[in-house]
Order: sequence, then structure tokens, then C-alpha cells
Amino acid sequence: MTAPAPTAPAPTVTTLVNPADETVIGTVEHTTWEGVDEAVPRATMAQVGWAALAPAERAAALRRFAAAVDAAVEGLAALETRNSGHPLTQSRWEASHVRDVLTYYSAAPERMIGQQIPVAGGIDVTFLEPIGVIGIIVPWNFPLTIASWGFAPALAAGNAVIIKPAEWTPLTAIRLAGIALESGLPAGLFQVLPGRGSVVGERLVAHPGVGKIVFTGSTETGQKVMAGCAANVKAVTLELGGKSANVVFADSDLELAAATAPYAVFENAGQDCCARSRILVQESVFDRFLELMEPAVKGVVVGAPTDEATEMGPLVSKAHFDKVASYLDDDARIAFRGTAPSGPGFWFAPTVLLPTSADDRAVTDEIFGPVVTVQSFRDEAHAIELANASRYGLSGSIWTRDLGRALRVTRGIASGNLSVNSHSSVRYSTPFGGFKQSGIGRELGPDAAAAFTETKNVFISTAASSTEGTP
Ligand code: NDP
Repeated sequence: MTAPAPTAPAPTVTTLVNPADETVIGTVEHTTWEGVDEAVPRATMAQVGWAALAPAERAAALRRFAAAVDAAVEGLAALETRNSGHPLTQSRWEASHVRDVLTYYSAAPERMIGQQIPVAGGIDVTFLEPIGVIGIIVPWNFPLTIASWGFAPALAAGNAVIIKPAEWTPLTAIRLAGIALESGLPAGLFQVLPGRGSVVGERLVAHPGVGKIVFTGSTETGQKVMAGCAANVKAVTLELGGKSANVVFADSDLELAAATAPYAVFENAGQDCCARSRILVQESVFDRFLELMEPAVKGVVVGAPTDEATEMGPLVSKAHFDKVASYLDDDARIAFRGTAPSGPGFWFAPTVLLPTSADDRAVTDEIFGPVVTVQSFRDEAHAIELANASRYGLSGSIWTRDLGRALRVTRGIASGNLSVNSHSSVRYSTPFGGFKQSGIGRELGPDAAAAFTETKNVFISTAASSTEGTP
């Protein structure tokens, strides 16, 4: 358990930069391999006391945590906007969402209901036992919300959590750890260990004291995490990338479909695993759709994240900006673009591409930026074929006025979260997760707390004792 790191790196720091103006906002020291090894026993100790609390007491503690987050929404939002560049209105929603997720799962401790199964010779009951310590590895695109999808149901089920935020965006998770303590959660139950994925992430995956890993991020890193979990026979949930289709049929409300399409992909500057980054339009309305969409794209308000009117902020970092920009090479056929500020900051204008082939890397790769491709399809079968022509299967939208078609197409698309005549993907009360290489397992919804438990089966004999009835 305390085996030294094979390559024990010295502590280092990350310099954090505001993506909107490139000013330095602070530094954060990395947790070392040994630091993880010290955190795990602290979590294990705290978990024992937490799991022993009466369910109603655990529920009340989670409600106090939710109330403390509620009181801190403005501060958390301002911090997220500075660190991640999210528009303030969006950051506020994200911080409030954490409160709501905690409130939703505060009802779970008193509902961790097992089964009573009919068997011969006695009764058989199941218990949902907490796993113990849960490692939660979080990406930089939604630092607050994605962390909460792991920690809220995990705590509700009686576990301790150790969160590894992304190196670029650790500040709100660090603040949440302070809020957890201030709200009365026991020390050690909710720990945040900033640092490198190759150190903190890998040690959490390998550490025998961590019973389950919840990972959100790229498919490539997810594969590594899964392999590490396999080597340790450790449970894992993966929420990976996406390249989701927005399928627009000729019989849809075309004006509404075109007006909303930009927001389905450019929100959070396209840094969203649910982004509908492939628009598929029935060929008979293709030109009309583009005509309607152009003013909508140009109307997206891209600007200072602190401005209340801003709808889209900058990309998270220079490295990510360079990656996204690489998709606008000489071969890219740009239909039209929106606007973005010039000057310092990682600004990238919303961009609509008309790919020349279905193999174009802008069609196949998760760009994770404000870039969308538009392709045409002939009929329902062709729409389903194109929508499914991806290694991913996370979300998607279908626009049609024909209910039967909506149901046929949603059943035909291999994706975990679909919406009809809307772009909704995430509600804390409904399950969320991907098909194919978009992931394994589901987060959120009524069953999420149970995913942080082991089922224990107990048989109790009702046979009369051999001494019963004897004088
Ligand atoms: P990663 O998948 O590499 O990072 C996600 C998290 O995993 C971060 O906390 C990271 O830490 C950590 N991590 C990195 N390596 C390891 C490891 N070996 N073991 C355990 N944890 C590790 O994503 P990137 O930040 O590199 O983004 C690359 C691309 O991934 C994006 O452009 C996008 O396409 C996709 N992506 C998808 C997301 C989604 O929501 N599905 C979210 C983020 C990215 P650290 O920050 O220190 O590297």
C-alpha cells in the first residue's frame, strides 16, 4: 500500500492562466505519488465513520453541504470564470447544479434499498455496501459539474472520495473541499489532490486502497485508466468523448432547428462531450437550413466571460487553441464563421465547415472546440447510417414533426442520450453515459448511488434449532 513510486517525481507547480486575457491567476502545487499514498488511508478512516452514521444523519450532512454550496455559488462561479474562461452566467449555472446534484442525492442514503428474495429454508436479503474510497478523475471542460456527478452519489452511498482535478482547472474543486469541511463533513472524507494525471491519476488507479475509479476525459486516457483498473480488478466508470449528430429532417420546424443548432455545439466554446458537432440535414432543405443558420451563428455573443451578455468564452488554453485551429487547414471548406475578440486570450470564432468527404478528420475527430460540420442525407436510413458512422455514441438530437420517425431514429442511433426537437442532454435526475467508445457505465439518475456499492447477499436459515422443543 505504501510502495514507493517507481519514478517518484519531485513536487512541481502549475501556473494557472486566465484564458480570457492570459494573465497569471496563481500557482498550484502538485500532489506527489507519496501524497496520494498519504491521502488514501485518511479517506479510508473517514469512510468508516461516515458509513456508520445513521442514513438520516448522512442525508442531513449532504443537505448541509448543499446549503453551503448554495451560499458559495457566486464565489465559485467567479473562480470558475477566471480559471476556465466560462461565461459567468454559465459558471453560475454550474455551481448551482452542484448544489442541486447534492440535494438530489441527499435523498439516497435513506433509499439504499436491498431486496428480499424468496428461497427455501430461510430468508435471503441483499445489502448495498459502500465500496470504500472512490477516485474521481475530472477533466478541464466542466470542473465543477463533472466532479459532482461522481462525489455526490458516492458520498450518499457511504463512500469517501478523492478528487483529481485537471491540471489546468483545479481551483473550484479545491474550494469545494474547503466548503465540504466548513459544512461539517469529516476531515478526510472529501479530498482534492491537484496534480498531474500521470502521477495523481495513475496512483489513484493503481492504489489498492481505492475501490473504484470514475474517469471523465479523452477516450485514449480512458483506455489507459481502464487497463490500470483491469490490472487491479477495480471497478471503473468511463465518460469519454463524443461526436454527436444533430439530425434535421425536412418536416421539422426548420427555423427553430437552425436557430438552436449553434447553441448545441458552441456552448462552452464547443468543449463539451455532448456537443452536436455534426449537423446532418435532409438534402431537400440543406441550402435553406444553412441560410437560416448563418445569422444564428453570427449572432452568438462571443466576448468577455465576465460580461452578463456573453454566450461563448475563450478556449481553455493555448495548447488546446492550437489543437482546434489545426482543423482549419488549407483543405477546410469554411461555410461561414461568427466573431470573436482579438488581442490576448484564446479566442476562436464559431466556425461552420462543409466537409468534402465523410472521412474528413473534421467529421471523425472530437475537435472539442467551436467547429461544426454540416452534411446532407437522403432519407431516414441514410440519416441513421451517417449518425452511427462514428466510434463515439454519447448524445444527439433529432428534429422532425413525425413522432413515429422520431422514435424510429432515436432507437436506430447508437447513443446514450438523445433528444427530440431539443438539445437537452444532462439532467441530474436522468441517467447519462455513452455507447461504443464514449464510455462505460452511467452517471446521474436514480441508480447512480447504487453504482458506488457492492451487493452483499445474506441467507438466514429459519430451520428449527436442534434443541428446540427438547426439555
Ligand atoms: P485527458 O483525458 O488526458 O484528461 C482528463 C483527466 O485525466 C485529467 O484530469 C488528466 O490529468 C487525467 N489524466 C491524464 N493522464 C492520466 C493517466 N495516465 N491516468 C489517470 N489520469 C490521467 O484529456 P485532455 O485534457 O488531454 O484533453 C484531450 C482531449 O480529450 C480533448 O481535446 C477532448 O477531445 C477530450 N476530452 C473529453 C472530455 C469529455 O468530457 N469527454 C473532457 C476532456 C477532454 P491532467 O489534467 O493532469 O492531464
